[in-house]
Amino acid sequence: MRLVLVGPPGAGKGTQAQFLAAHFSIPHVSTGDIFRANLKAGTELGNQAKGFMDRGELVPDSVTNEMVKDRLTHDDAVNGFLLDGFPRNVVQAEVLRAILADKKTPLHAVLEFSLADEEIVARLSSRRTCRDCGAPSVGVDKCPTCGGDVYQREDDKAEVITRRLEVYAEQTAPIISFYRNEGLLISVSAVGKVEDITAHAISALSRVAQ
Ligand code: AMP
Repeated sequence: MRLVLVGPPGAGKGTQAQFLAAHFSIPHVSTGDIFRANLKAGTELGNQAKGFMDRGELVPDSVTNEMVKDRLTHDDAVNGFLLDGFPRNVVQAEVLRAILADKKTPLHAVLEFSLADEEIVARLSSRRTCRDCGAPSVGVDKCPTCGGDVYQREDDKAEVITRRLEVYAEQTAPIISFYRNEGLLISVSAVGKVEDITAHAISALSRVAQ
Protein backbone atom coordinates (compact mmCIF):
# COMPACT_ATOMS: atom_id res chain seq x y z
CA MET A 1 0.00 0.00 0.00
CA ARG A 2 1.39 3.40 -1.02
CA LEU A 3 -0.48 5.96 0.99
CA VAL A 4 -0.37 9.68 1.78
CA LEU A 5 -2.05 11.21 4.84
CA VAL A 6 -3.24 14.81 4.62
CA GLY A 7 -4.91 17.00 7.20
CA PRO A 8 -4.40 20.16 9.22
CA PRO A 9 -1.87 20.21 12.05
CA GLY A 10 -3.46 18.60 15.11
CA ALA A 11 -5.81 16.34 13.14
CA GLY A 12 -4.08 13.33 14.68
CA LYS A 13 -2.23 12.28 11.52
CA GLY A 14 0.82 11.11 13.48
CA THR A 15 -1.22 8.95 15.82
CA GLN A 16 -3.33 7.46 13.05
CA ALA A 17 -0.23 6.97 10.91
CA GLN A 18 1.31 4.68 13.52
CA PHE A 19 -1.78 2.44 13.65
CA LEU A 20 -2.26 2.39 9.88
CA ALA A 21 1.42 1.69 9.18
CA ALA A 22 1.28 -1.26 11.60
CA HIS A 23 -1.99 -2.51 10.10
CA PHE A 24 -0.67 -2.47 6.52
CA SER A 25 2.92 -3.44 7.50
CA ILE A 26 4.43 -0.41 5.82
CA PRO A 27 6.93 2.16 7.15
CA HIS A 28 5.59 5.40 8.62
CA VAL A 29 7.52 8.19 6.91
CA SER A 30 6.92 11.49 8.71
CA THR A 31 8.87 14.42 7.28
CA GLY A 32 8.28 16.37 10.53
CA ASP A 33 9.80 13.48 12.55
CA ILE A 34 12.79 13.25 10.19
CA PHE A 35 13.40 17.00 10.53
CA ARG A 36 13.05 16.84 14.35
CA ALA A 37 15.46 13.86 14.55
CA ASN A 38 17.97 15.86 12.49
CA LEU A 39 17.52 18.90 14.71
CA LYS A 40 18.15 16.81 17.80
CA ALA A 41 21.24 15.25 16.24
CA GLY A 42 22.49 18.68 15.12
CA THR A 43 22.96 17.64 11.48
CA GLU A 44 23.33 20.01 8.53
CA LEU A 45 19.78 19.11 7.43
CA GLY A 46 18.51 19.93 10.93
CA ASN A 47 20.26 23.30 10.86
CA GLN A 48 18.77 24.08 7.47
CA ALA A 49 15.25 23.24 8.70
CA LYS A 50 15.32 24.83 12.17
CA GLY A 51 14.43 28.45 11.42
CA PHE A 52 11.55 27.48 9.14
CA MET A 53 10.16 25.01 11.65
CA ASP A 54 10.38 27.46 14.56
CA ARG A 55 8.38 30.00 12.56
CA GLY A 56 5.78 27.46 11.38
CA GLU A 57 6.90 27.91 7.77
CA LEU A 58 7.55 25.12 5.28
CA VAL A 59 11.16 24.02 4.87
CA PRO A 60 12.14 24.82 1.24
CA ASP A 61 11.03 22.27 -1.36
CA SER A 62 14.58 21.68 -2.58
CA VAL A 63 15.61 20.36 0.86
CA THR A 64 12.40 18.46 1.59
CA ASN A 65 11.97 16.79 -1.80
CA GLU A 66 15.53 15.42 -1.81
CA MET A 67 15.08 14.09 1.70
CA VAL A 68 11.86 12.25 0.76
CA LYS A 69 13.28 10.97 -2.52
CA ASP A 70 16.17 9.45 -0.60
CA ARG A 71 13.92 8.01 2.12
CA LEU A 72 11.76 6.21 -0.45
CA THR A 73 14.79 4.34 -1.78
CA HIS A 74 15.32 2.57 1.58
CA ASP A 75 14.70 -1.19 1.58
CA ASP A 76 11.72 -0.99 3.93
CA ALA A 77 9.77 1.11 1.40
CA VAL A 78 9.86 -1.35 -1.51
CA ASN A 79 6.45 -2.80 -0.66
CA GLY A 80 4.82 0.48 0.17
CA PHE A 81 4.91 3.36 2.64
CA LEU A 82 2.73 5.78 4.51
CA LEU A 83 3.75 9.40 4.00
CA ASP A 84 2.72 11.71 6.85
CA GLY A 85 3.36 15.44 6.38
CA PHE A 86 4.44 15.17 2.75
CA PRO A 87 3.43 16.52 0.29
CA ARG A 88 2.66 19.89 1.88
CA ASN A 89 2.11 21.89 -1.33
CA VAL A 90 1.23 21.27 -4.98
CA VAL A 91 4.87 21.38 -6.14
CA GLN A 92 5.75 18.61 -3.69
CA ALA A 93 2.70 16.62 -4.85
CA GLU A 94 3.91 16.92 -8.44
CA VAL A 95 7.45 15.90 -7.47
CA LEU A 96 6.09 12.87 -5.61
CA ARG A 97 3.99 11.89 -8.61
CA ALA A 98 7.09 12.10 -10.84
CA ILE A 99 9.28 10.08 -8.42
CA LEU A 100 6.65 7.33 -8.26
CA ALA A 101 5.91 7.42 -12.01
CA ASP A 102 9.63 6.81 -12.66
CA LYS A 103 9.44 3.64 -10.58
CA LYS A 104 6.00 2.72 -12.02
CA THR A 105 4.65 2.57 -8.46
CA PRO A 106 1.86 5.18 -8.24
CA LEU A 107 -0.02 6.02 -5.05
CA HIS A 108 -3.00 3.86 -4.10
CA ALA A 109 -4.77 6.49 -2.02
CA VAL A 110 -4.60 9.82 -0.22
CA LEU A 111 -6.40 9.83 3.11
CA GLU A 112 -7.63 13.20 4.33
CA PHE A 113 -8.44 13.76 8.03
CA SER A 114 -10.84 16.68 8.27
CA LEU A 115 -11.21 18.95 11.30
CA ALA A 116 -12.69 22.41 11.99
CA ASP A 117 -10.29 25.33 12.71
CA GLU A 118 -11.47 25.99 16.31
CA GLU A 119 -10.86 22.36 17.20
CA ILE A 120 -7.35 22.50 15.67
CA VAL A 121 -6.24 25.43 17.83
CA ALA A 122 -7.65 23.85 21.01
CA ARG A 123 -5.89 20.56 20.29
CA LEU A 124 -2.51 22.00 19.34
CA SER A 125 -2.20 24.43 22.24
CA SER A 126 -2.77 21.64 24.79
CA ARG A 127 -0.58 19.10 22.97
CA ARG A 128 2.69 17.94 24.52
CA THR A 129 5.29 15.77 22.78
CA CYS A 130 7.59 13.10 24.25
CA ARG A 131 11.30 13.98 24.13
CA ASP A 132 12.17 10.31 23.75
CA CYS A 133 9.62 8.67 21.46
CA GLY A 134 7.84 11.70 19.97
CA ALA A 135 4.33 10.48 20.95
CA PRO A 136 1.76 13.25 21.50
CA SER A 137 -0.16 13.54 24.79
CA VAL A 138 -2.45 15.94 26.65
CA GLY A 139 -2.55 16.84 30.37
CA VAL A 140 0.24 14.55 31.61
CA ASP A 141 3.81 15.11 32.90
CA LYS A 142 5.22 11.85 31.59
CA CYS A 143 4.72 10.20 28.21
CA PRO A 144 1.90 7.60 28.43
CA THR A 145 3.67 5.50 25.79
CA CYS A 146 7.25 5.27 27.12
CA GLY A 147 7.41 7.28 30.38
CA GLY A 148 9.77 9.91 28.89
CA ASP A 149 9.61 13.64 29.67
CA VAL A 150 7.09 15.66 27.67
CA TYR A 151 7.55 19.20 26.32
CA GLN A 152 5.60 21.73 24.25
CA ARG A 153 6.92 21.88 20.70
CA GLU A 154 8.13 25.37 19.80
CA ASP A 155 5.68 25.31 16.89
CA ASP A 156 2.72 24.32 19.11
CA LYS A 157 2.90 27.73 20.86
CA ALA A 158 -0.03 30.07 20.11
CA GLU A 159 1.77 32.54 17.80
CA VAL A 160 3.24 29.78 15.67
CA ILE A 161 -0.01 27.79 15.50
CA THR A 162 -1.72 30.73 13.80
CA ARG A 163 1.03 30.82 11.16
CA ARG A 164 0.91 27.03 10.66
CA LEU A 165 -2.83 27.24 10.02
CA GLU A 166 -2.32 30.02 7.45
CA VAL A 167 0.39 27.98 5.75
CA TYR A 168 -1.92 24.96 5.72
CA ALA A 169 -4.81 26.93 4.19
CA GLU A 170 -2.64 28.69 1.59
CA GLN A 171 -0.20 25.98 0.59
CA THR A 172 -1.35 22.55 1.75
CA ALA A 173 -5.15 22.63 1.34
CA PRO A 174 -4.81 22.95 -2.49
CA ILE A 175 -3.33 19.44 -2.63
CA ILE A 176 -6.73 18.12 -1.56
CA SER A 177 -8.29 19.23 -4.87
CA PHE A 178 -5.16 18.02 -6.68
CA TYR A 179 -5.68 14.50 -5.33
CA ARG A 180 -9.46 14.64 -5.73
CA ASN A 181 -8.88 15.34 -9.43
CA GLU A 182 -6.51 12.38 -9.58
CA GLY A 183 -9.29 10.19 -8.14
CA LEU A 184 -7.15 9.28 -5.12
CA LEU A 185 -8.82 11.22 -2.29
CA ILE A 186 -10.60 9.50 0.61
CA SER A 187 -11.91 11.72 3.45
CA VAL A 188 -12.43 10.65 7.04
CA SER A 189 -13.55 12.85 9.94
CA ALA A 190 -10.80 13.43 12.53
CA VAL A 191 -13.37 13.91 15.31
CA GLY A 192 -14.16 11.07 17.70
CA LYS A 193 -12.29 8.33 19.48
CA VAL A 194 -8.85 7.46 18.12
CA GLU A 195 -9.79 3.80 17.62
CA ASP A 196 -13.04 4.68 15.81
CA ILE A 197 -11.18 7.00 13.43
CA THR A 198 -8.63 4.25 12.73
CA ALA A 199 -11.45 1.77 12.04
CA HIS A 200 -13.14 4.19 9.60
CA ALA A 201 -9.84 4.77 7.83
CA ILE A 202 -9.06 1.06 7.52
CA SER A 203 -12.54 0.32 6.24
CA ALA A 204 -12.31 3.12 3.64
CA LEU A 205 -8.85 1.92 2.55
CA SER A 206 -9.96 -1.70 2.26
CA ARG A 207 -12.03 -0.63 -0.73
CA VAL A 208 -8.90 0.63 -2.52
CA ALA A 209 -7.25 -1.75 -4.95
CA GLN A 210 -3.65 -2.57 -3.94
P1 AMP B 1 4.84 18.23 11.30
O1 AMP B 1 5.43 17.41 12.40
O2 AMP B 1 4.39 17.37 10.14
O3 AMP B 1 3.77 19.16 11.78
O4 AMP B 1 6.02 19.14 10.70
C1 AMP B 1 6.68 20.09 11.53
C2 AMP B 1 7.37 21.12 10.66
O5 AMP B 1 8.34 20.47 9.82
C3 AMP B 1 6.48 21.88 9.69
O6 AMP B 1 5.80 22.96 10.32
C4 AMP B 1 7.50 22.35 8.66
O7 AMP B 1 8.29 23.41 9.16
C5 AMP B 1 8.41 21.12 8.56
N1 AMP B 1 7.90 20.18 7.51
C6 AMP B 1 7.38 18.93 7.70
N2 AMP B 1 7.03 18.39 6.53
C7 AMP B 1 7.30 19.30 5.57
C8 AMP B 1 7.14 19.35 4.16
N3 AMP B 1 6.58 18.32 3.48
N4 AMP B 1 7.55 20.47 3.50
C9 AMP B 1 8.10 21.49 4.16
N5 AMP B 1 8.26 21.54 5.49
C10 AMP B 1 7.87 20.45 6.21
